[in-house]
Amino acid sequence: MSNAHAVIVGASHAAAQLSVGLRQSGWEGGISVVGSEAIPPYHRPPLSKDYLGGDKHADELLIRPAAFYQQQDINLVLGTRVTALDRANKEIELHDGARIPYTKLALTTGAAVRKLPLTGSDLDGVLYLRELSDVDRIRGYLGAGKSAVIIGGGYIGLETAASLRKQGMNVTVLEAQPRVLQRVTAPEVSAFYSRVHREEGVNIMTEAQVQAISGEGRVQGVTLSDGTHIDADLVIIGVGVIPATELAETAGLEVDNGIVVDEYARTSDHDIVAAGDCTNHYSAIYDRRLRLESVQNATDQAKLAAGTLCGKLEAYNALPWFWSDQYDLKLQIAGLSQGFDRVVMRGDSESGRSFAAFYFSGERLLAVDAVNRPKEFMSVRRALTQGQSADPEVLADDSADIKQAFST
Ligand SMILES: Cc1cc2nc3c(=O)[nH]c(=O)nc-3n(C[C@H](O)[C@H](O)[C@H](O)COP(=O)(O)OP(=O)(O)OC[C@H]3O[C@@H](n4cnc5c(N)ncnc54)[C@H](O)[C@@H]3O)c2cc1C
Repeated sequence: MSNAHAVIVGASHAAAQLSVGLRQSGWEGGISVVGSEAIPPYHRPPLSKDYLGGDKHADELLIRPAAFYQQQDINLVLGTRVTALDRANKEIELHDGARIPYTKLALTTGAAVRKLPLTGSDLDGVLYLRELSDVDRIRGYLGAGKSAVIIGGGYIGLETAASLRKQGMNVTVLEAQPRVLQRVTAPEVSAFYSRVHREEGVNIMTEAQVQAISGEGRVQGVTLSDGTHIDADLVIIGVGVIPATELAETAGLEVDNGIVVDEYARTSDHDIVAAGDCTNHYSAIYDRRLRLESVQNATDQAKLAAGTLCGKLEAYNALPWFWSDQYDLKLQIAGLSQGFDRVVMRGDSESGRSFAAFYFSGERLLAVDAVNRPKEFMSVRRALTQGQSADPEVLADDSADIKQAFST
């Protein structure tokens, strides 16, 4: 056993993978994972899906059982916030003032919800959704026939709407932009999700500017800037996240919309790596820097970061992919659609519940949004990984074999 000590700050998807990856890459020293949430790393995506819907118990969310970390001699320090990073002495400081020395450090601090400074946002019944404890709190306000207002029509807002509808609640989604999912999808896909949510009984309001949340002690409603009032027993705010970079920034590491890392997940201090939602990395596939918010990125980047800390350098070049589950819809996304100038549709998004939207920039296929279309998702994922191009005419022809669309 070596005296070296690897410390990982944050205990979620990236940390779970990084700690195990260190052992797999031959790290023989100590490993400590310090996280502010009180439970071992768990799968975050089910929070707005099965867990909010009551279909899963907290134990079922754990990425690995606590005993696994013990077997691997990985020390979990939970319910503990790291407040400072002292690079000169190679120590981290905890909220109670205790200090832990490190030989190598990994920052997997993820992202935190963007807060809305609205009048009434401190009322009882106004909540955010990022952590398991947030959902446990939300649970106290659920009930058939009660009214929920969700501020934000992104993936998390829409998944939350679907889960609350399933429980018989009256649900309104307020989106400030002209369409839901505007930042991440084509108008066709936004129109599809608005339609399905309306079919399921959700009141979707776009171009809705929230002016204030009202109530006395406890939330009673939301008022829009045009004077519209919507009753609410519960308000959930889901307007995006910001990367948790304070520790890195205060310690003088380079930060620019995330902790800046190189292709080996190294920060500007090479004894410190970072992985997951908190990072900003260069993508050779898209030839630009990216800050991603996905389990794929957290896991793949962490795997590589573990190798880096063990002296095994491998450049990060994974294809981004993502998913979202709402009602009977399984959306799978391969690639990144930002910068697209054309969308090719396969299947019927206007009245059906199964289609694929292929995003192009000129001749180049960038990404696919595949709803209940695993074959299309898998084909595009493979094609983008292998640098293949695609024939838009074959893609658009739902009767043609999808495999015929790709060539090298
Ligand atoms: C409701 C919801 C649904 C989602 N659904 C999907 C989905 O369907 N598909 C998908 O790919 N992604 C989804 N995501 C995103 C995905 O969960 C994140 O990309 C992923 O969790 C990132 O993992 P991470 O380890 O980088 O960071 P995080 O999961 O953000 O974890 C960071 C951890 O570090 C802790 N921390 C931060 N600072 C400190 C500190 N100073 N000291 C100690 N601890 C600290 C935080 O408390 C947190 O526990 C969803 C996210 C949410 C919230």
